[in-house]
Amino acid sequence: MKLVSNHAVTSGNDLRRVIDFLQGYRDGVPDNAVLADLTFGNPHEQPLPDLVAALRTHIEPKSVDWFAYKLSEAEPRRVIAEGLRAELGLDFAPEDIAMTLGAYGAITLAFTMLLEPRDECITLVPGWFLYETSASLCHAVTVKVPLRDADFDLDVGAIEAAITSRTRIVVVNTPHNPTGVIYSRERLQELAAMLERKSEEFGRPIFILSDEPYRRIRFDGAAFTSPAEVYPWTLIDYSFGKVLLAPGLRLGYLAIGPKMPAEARATLSATAEKTQLAMGCAFPDSILQYAVKDLETVSIDVAAYQRKRDRLYDALTQWGYAMTKPAGTFYLWGKAPGGDAAAFAAAMAKRGVFIMPGTLFERPGDFRISLTGTEAMIEASLPAFQALAPAT
Ligand code: PLP
Repeated sequence: MKLVSNHAVTSGNDLRRVIDFLQGYRDGVPDNAVLADLTFGNPHEQPLPDLVAALRTHIEPKSVDWFAYKLSEAEPRRVIAEGLRAELGLDFAPEDIAMTLGAYGAITLAFTMLLEPRDECITLVPGWFLYETSASLCHAVTVKVPLRDADFDLDVGAIEAAITSRTRIVVVNTPHNPTGVIYSRERLQELAAMLERKSEEFGRPIFILSDEPYRRIRFDGAAFTSPAEVYPWTLIDYSFGKVLLAPGLRLGYLAIGPKMPAEARATLSATAEKTQLAMGCAFPDSILQYAVKDLETVSIDVAAYQRKRDRLYDALTQWGYAMTKPAGTFYLWGKAPGGDAAAFAAAMAKRGVFIMPGTLFERPGDFRISLTGTEAMIEASLPAFQALAPAT
């Protein structure tokens, strides 16, 4: 008997499989032998005091309609548009901003607004693991294009080769999870020029969905260019969950690129609200929307993350690991000794250290470390990495 729809069956399966797989490692290790969980980008320390203070302030009702129904509220839209104007130098208006349930809520909103059944959505591999799940809810087809092998940069030729008359969206994630690469302005301009040409050829715009939840987590003063600066048909998704290290507080936005023609911009803005209502009132909690003005300037200590990155990167490369030095995000990506990341992760787990095998990113020979582990966890993990280092 068929009980649920096909897209309900495919949605979310992969993540659940990986969570269960990682739990399998954990079950074999007694609690007192767990040294470090460096799998997901989850917090391992008390939340930022300024975050907690903002929530405390805004839970206090200041009017009778404090907890009335909310759409995308005027004040957070204005604060975010102002912040984006300062950050990206583009003329965002409050109407360009849709308040969403994290970056993932914004991705799902963009897909739902733009994708017809059988439309194609290009994603880059390795890459975040839920784009396909979300596109499947729109009955769209995800077309996966590899990043360049040597440096994980965009391969504009390969993306062009994958474009067809059904291509509607190219998802570009910068800074990039899992590699930490930030794409250069020149490379994004090259991508933009190609997409302009292809949009012209097929007579409808191909959008870039610029997935930027790590935009403010950059190291060594690395420069950042948003695709919205160089390509008019861009939508940006963003999450407060990364920079506040509070991914369970679902707060983010979808922003319409201001270089888009005015008529298209207005249509998308109106469509966002209707679509979010159709998705089940998919707006952030009222308290979170009030708190945006206080949260805009709160952040994890990025310098401390840079120190954690350097400690691990320097130690691992010294022991012979082939690692990619991230320019941003809070992950470190590298090649598993022996080429089998699941076996490597299992051997690390036996030593009390949990890392993410690249299977989830469709790169079973690579692994990811989350730098959201504490400094103490990272120190404690080093002997296991050293013991399992590649033979030199
Ligand atoms: N995009 C990327 C590249 C991510 O790494 C994540 C979260 O891990 C998301 C989107 C979704 O972010 P959020 O869970 O804050 O909505």
